[in-house]
Amino acid sequence: MAGPDTMNADIKTRNRKRIYELLFSNPSMTKPELAAQLSLSLPTVHANLTALLKDGLVRENGFRENTGGRKARDYSIVKDARLAVGLDITMHHVTAVAVNVAGEIIDMIRLRRNFEFTDLYMQRLGLLVDQLIVQAGIPRNRILGVGLGVPGLVTEDCRRIFYGKILDFEGASVEDFSKYIDFHCALFNDAKAAGFAEFWRQTELQDAFYIMLSSNVGGAVYKGGSISSGKNRCAGEIGHVKIDARGPRCYCGQYGCLDCYCAASVLASRYDGSLEAFFRDLNGGGAEAKLIWDVYLDHLAKAVSTIRLLFDCPIIIGGYVGQYLDSWLDDLRKRIKALDSFNTPLEDVRTCRFKKESIAAGGALYFINEFLESI
Ligand SMILES: [Zn+2]
Repeated sequence: MAGPDTMNADIKTRNRKRIYELLFSNPSMTKPELAAQLSLSLPTVHANLTALLKDGLVRENGFRENTGGRKARDYSIVKDARLAVGLDITMHHVTAVAVNVAGEIIDMIRLRRNFEFTDLYMQRLGLLVDQLIVQAGIPRNRILGVGLGVPGLVTEDCRRIFYGKILDFEGASVEDFSKYIDFHCALFNDAKAAGFAEFWRQTELQDAFYIMLSSNVGGAVYKGGSISSGKNRCAGEIGHVKIDARGPRCYCGQYGCLDCYCAASVLASRYDGSLEAFFRDLNGGGAEAKLIWDVYLDHLAKAVSTIRLLFDCPIIIGGYVGQYLDSWLDDLRKRIKALDSFNTPLEDVRTCRFKKESIAAGGALYFINEFLESI
């Protein structure tokens, strides 16, 4: 049984966390507001705020006029008290982002560089992280870690890639990637990282499915408030659901996987690899783009219908293509409706909130989340 000292320590930690959480969810608050909303005494709020100020996690903003005419000090969280870096490693690019404790991307660098499993490439990754930190003006001691999103399946401890056909890096470990990075590093599957960013602190979402339509197609199952990767860590791998057994060969070795029909390259390949150019043409009424898009949306609708049948939960569509989907959502929903056996409402089919850099952001948010849990 826990003794009185342990129980007091628990209560103290819990109060500190509750105060920080409330400040986190509000632009600013005064001591009386915190005390009233959390049913805590003013001395308890004062003691905790003093400690949070000392740790550099909270700051004073000056005075605010109270309803009773008395002035009260105003407090808010220090958003850049800690930061994390996220990397999105793809076949032709590396994107690095710096994310603060509020989950905001404060700076980024996108580097055009073909992936190669060489020492030179890993050196370049180290240099990129350092460049970003200097560019963003972040003191190095505030960096919590570097999360690397990769197109592959990663072991539960975030240390090894056990399936990685896209970049042919199966068996690579976090040590390989972090050789020239001075911070704690962790590896993440790209879609799981993007899904994590999408679900992060979305308390109204308990169960959901995230579809990532990027250079490859992936997915993440969100269950009871966390990502569920399944027994073999391939839960949510919607990119390899078979659309047509007679279809083209997928990089996984099978035929007719959704990845062959809904990867961003399907749209961009006839536009010099530029998705932006594809959507420009589509929005300008280009006949070829319209034709490609029509087929694409039909396949996407099939995939979403399958997920709805299996999970019956909100479905969030993101990734490189997801960022352009807002104006096409009604069209997509109509196509899903046409395939729906149960006439279920379609509001739960949505587009992503992270329009850009969700993979890199998700990698960084892993460390931010860990830090926030530790407060
Ligand atoms: Zn496949």
